[in-house]
Amino acid sequence: MTALTSDVTTSVDLGRATHLACRECGTVTPLGPFYACGECFGPLEVAYDYTAGTPITRESIESGPQNIWRYQQLLPVPSYVRDTPNLEPGCTPLVPAKNLARELGMRALWVKDDSANPTHSFKDRVVACALAAARELGFTVLACPSTGNLANAVAAAAARAGIRSVVLIPADLEQQKITATAVYGGTLVAVEGTYDDVNRVASELAGEHEDWAFVNVNVRPYYAEGSKTLGFETAEALGWRLPEQVVIPIASGSQLTKVDKAFRELSSLGLVEETPYRIFGAQATGCSPVSQAFKGGYDVVRPVRPDTIAKSLAIGNPADGPYVLDTANRTGGVIEDVTDEELVEGIRLLARTEGIFAETAGGVTVATLRKLLDAGVLDPDADTVVFNTGEGLKTLDAVSGHVGPAATIPASAAAFTAAGLV
Ligand SMILES: *Cc1c(COP(=O)(O)O)cnc(C)c1O
Ligand SMILES: [Zn+2]
Repeated sequence: MTALTSDVTTSVDLGRATHLACRECGTVTPLGPFYACGECFGPLEVAYDYTAGTPITRESIESGPQNIWRYQQLLPVPSYVRDTPNLEPGCTPLVPAKNLARELGMRALWVKDDSANPTHSFKDRVVACALAAARELGFTVLACPSTGNLANAVAAAAARAGIRSVVLIPADLEQQKITATAVYGGTLVAVEGTYDDVNRVASELAGEHEDWAFVNVNVRPYYAEGSKTLGFETAEALGWRLPEQVVIPIASGSQLTKVDKAFRELSSLGLVEETPYRIFGAQATGCSPVSQAFKGGYDVVRPVRPDTIAKSLAIGNPADGPYVLDTANRTGGVIEDVTDEELVEGIRLLARTEGIFAETAGGVTVATLRKLLDAGVLDPDADTVVFNTGEGLKTLDAVSGHVGPAATIPASAAAFTAAGLV
C-alpha cells in the first residue's frame, strides 16, 4: 500500500485532521492509509484544522478522561474513539525528582514516568492512536515490526480490541519482552536478524496484505501523533507551562520530534505561554547514528549495525533521524550517547534516588542527563524533565549481574546479626 494514488475520499472521521502533508516537499495527500509522498517518497505527517468546531481550551481538556483521550481534539482519531475497547494509556506521573536533582546538583528536575502505562512503556500511546485510525481506515489486523515494547503494546491492544495481531521481533530480544507479547495470544514471529532486517520484512508484508495495519509502517503518520501526548501531559502537569529542558531517548526519533510538535501546538493554540525550550536526545553508544551525525555536524544520518544492551533503542537506520537533528539544532539542544556501562549506572542511580526502576532506555536517558550536566551543556538551574519510557522488570538481565542480596543466611536472627549488616 503506497501513497502513489490519492483517490481516497476525505470522508473519513479522524477528528480535526484534514490531510497528510509531506515533510520534505509539502505535497498534500488526502487522509488515508498513506505514509510516503507520491512526489518525493518523503514521510507524510498529519495536518489539522484546529479552528473548526468547539474551541480547544484548558478547561475542555481538563474535563476529559484521565488518559490520552483528554487530548482527543489534538489527535487524528475518530470522534467515537472513547466508545471502542482500548487500553487507554496516558496521564502517567510527572514525578518531582528531588533526590536525583540533589545528587546531580540541579535546581528542579522531574521524571515523566511512562512505565505506568498499561503494558509499561510509552508505546501504548502511539499504538492507541494507530489502532483508532486503522479501524476507521478499514484495516482488520494490527501488526508491527518491533524492538520489544511495541510488540507488547500491539499484542495487548489488539487483544482488547478483539482483532488479530501479527508481531515481528528480532529473535535475540529480551525473554521478558517475548513472553509479555506472546501471552496476549496473537501471531508472534521471531526473525533472525536485526531490527532493521525485521523492519524490511514488515514493509514487504505491508505491501502484500492490504488489510494489515503495520502501526509504525503503513499507518505511521497516525501512530507518530500519539507521542505528542507526552508533551501535552508534561506541560499540563507543570501547570500549563513548557519545561526549559527535556531529555528524550531516541530509537526511530519519532517521539522526540513529536514532543517538539506538541510544545509548538500548545503555544500556537494559546494553551501555554510561548517560552523557549531545549530538546536533548539520548542514545546508546552501541547504536548512536543520530548522536554521531549531530557531533559530526551532518544533516543526514548514516546507518549503523546496533551492538548495545539497550535493545528498545537499537534502530540502526532511524526514520526520523534527520528531523531529530533539525529539532535539536532549532531548540538549542544536543544529542549525546552513553556506553552500556553508563546506562546500567543510570538505571541504578534512578532506582536508588527515586524508587523508579527503569528499563535500559531510561538508563540511557538518565546517564545522558548526567553526562550533559557534567559537560556543562545542560543548565542545572533550568526546569528539566527526563522521560523514563519503559519498565525495568522487562530488562532484568541488564542489572541482575550488578545487584543482589547483601548476604544469604540461615533462617535465624542470630545469623542476620552475625552477617555484620548492622
Ligand atoms: C520505542 C522506544 C523509544 C523510542 O521511540 P522512537 O519514537 O522510535 O524514537 C524509547 N523508549 C522506549 C522504552 C521505547 O520502547
Ligand atoms: Zn514530498
